[in-house]
Amino acid sequence: MDAARLEHFKQLLVSDLRRHARQVSDEQANAIDSANDGAKESADLALRDVVSELALNLGERESQMIADIDQALLRIKEGSYGLCVRCNRQIDERRLEALPTARYDSDCQTAIENERRVARPTL
Ligand SMILES: [Zn+2]
Repeated sequence: MDAARLEHFKQLLVSDLRRHARQVSDEQANAIDSANDGAKESADLALRDVVSELALNLGERESQMIADIDQALLRIKEGSYGLCVRCNRQIDERRLEALPTARYDSDCQTAIENERRVARPTL
């Protein structure tokens, strides 16, 4: 994926993050904006600080979403964003548009859901 596409998905993730932050306080949302605005290297660090603080202030379900966004931002930084963590194939960009935190391509997602469905009756 080229740098411009990565930046696009990063902004999608950050705006998701901001939306969650606003539920905590405007202050948290502003902190994300300023962390995202700063000079590149320190901005990444500042953003991570805001994310961990945010996770502390949210309920379990919201914290999980924040963690997913955080993981996706980390994958952007590491250069593995957009690759399926199960089969390592490129995830369809339309899928990423709809779900920027997606870790699996649709084939693997379906396979995983099928495995769960099969596993459930034995529980
Ligand atoms: Zn896959």
